[in-house]
Amino acid sequence: MSIATTNPATGAVEATFEALSGTEIDARLERAREAFARQGSTTIEERAGWMEAAAGILDGEADQIAAMLTTEMGKTIKAARAEARKCAGACRFYARNAARFLADRPADAQAVGAERAWIRYRPIGPVLAVMPWNFPLWQVIRFAAPALMAGNVGLLKHASNVPRTALFLEELFRRAGFPPDAFQTLLVGSGQVERIIRDPRVKGATLTGSEPAGRSVGATAGAEIKPSVLELGGSDAFVVMPSADITRAADVAATSRCLNNGQSCISAKRFIVHTDVYEEFERRFVDNMRARRVGDPMDESTDIGPLASEQGRSTIEEQVADAVGSGATVLCGGQRIEGPGWFYPPTVITGVTPGMRMYHEEVFGPVASLFRVDGIDQAIDLANDTTFGLGANAWTRDADEQERFADDLDAGQVFINGMVTSFPDLPFGGTKHSGYGRELADLGMHAFCNIKTIWAGA
Ligand code: NAP
Repeated sequence: MSIATTNPATGAVEATFEALSGTEIDARLERAREAFARQGSTTIEERAGWMEAAAGILDGEADQIAAMLTTEMGKTIKAARAEARKCAGACRFYARNAARFLADRPADAQAVGAERAWIRYRPIGPVLAVMPWNFPLWQVIRFAAPALMAGNVGLLKHASNVPRTALFLEELFRRAGFPPDAFQTLLVGSGQVERIIRDPRVKGATLTGSEPAGRSVGATAGAEIKPSVLELGGSDAFVVMPSADITRAADVAATSRCLNNGQSCISAKRFIVHTDVYEEFERRFVDNMRARRVGDPMDESTDIGPLASEQGRSTIEEQVADAVGSGATVLCGGQRIEGPGWFYPPTVITGVTPGMRMYHEEVFGPVASLFRVDGIDQAIDLANDTTFGLGANAWTRDADEQERFADDLDAGQVFINGMVTSFPDLPFGGTKHSGYGRELADLGMHAFCNIKTIWAGA
């Protein structure tokens, strides 16, 4: 894939970029090694000051940053501005909490026959982050903020369709005051990822992206015995039980499915509704989906912009055609919006059954599958009948049902009467083919630390 900015609202190529040569990659890795050697002489307090400065830039320049994200991958301008602000919040969170997360943790010295015993968190070195285009700032910041605060050095291989955002991120940390090369963007294609992970100067890898990319990065990191975190796709269930507030559930359901023009790993994708409230939910949900405004993502009143690529829209069309061809029914949407740009309308489909692509695959666009169930056992079985396990939403005011969902939904995060989302304070990650490891909170920082046990005798 060429490295280029192509506006998804028009299809126009706005800029192209040269990929780094092999020699240039090598030089950048050497600079990363040297930067890590220098990071040792920086303090947490200094790094916190620089991270606060990065937050200030993200907040202060949110409008310009938002315009860059929108023209590069098509999210609405209001969503892009919110993303910049969320990133500022995460930078502040790690600036303010890193000292606590990295503090020595005392152990029971007597139990292990020591005079003193404790756990110390030490950085490991340059870590490669392979990142996706859908939240082009947030996905990177949620790796970079904890990694840099821990004293690691960041190397970013961003998705090939968001090079301007990728270069902005390198610039962001440099302008904020971090030492040269503490965070570098490598403009390279995915074919270079394996050699970078295998390079002895690189000490770990994290990937947010699709399952095939995850398998590849996980395999290389495993072969090299380097720590890795994988944040992959999802097909989140959204279960609605009779005691739920149906009006609110239907509204949140449409918001979740249309989030980021339908291109979010934690968008609810499969809506599983108890038969007692099915008709009411279906009516309200379809009305809500129809009411979302699709259009120019730069317009403040637009709810849904274009999909990020022509390929992404073709895949959605193929998934919908496959379902309809096998007997599924379209309740709204279901046809591309003709004209320039890669627009696709909010779509609701019923009658999706095992064997159809939509039943098994992640649907990365504003297309919902709606299912009817008779009770909680059937709801949980259906929710878990997927190879993914990223998030799950459950709507019920019944305390026993809430406990049941918390225990039995096989996912990295379960939100009850709310929409799955990510917060700096809460760990984030998946089960099954949605990946392994956790980002955010203290766990996200410790993922790329040497968790070192110290035993000291008299
Ligand atoms: P993608 O095609 O897997 O690309 C993600 C990144 O991996 C890009 O930088 C890409 O580079 C690189 N890549 C692709 N194939 C690779 C390979 N074989 N080896 C090494 N690197 C490779 O995914 P995407 O389309 O950008 O993103 C959408 C996916 O990300 C969805 O499945 C979504 O659910 C998932 N996602 C997950 C989370 C989470 O937190 N779990 C969050 C956001 C998105 P190129 O661009 O150069 O190909």
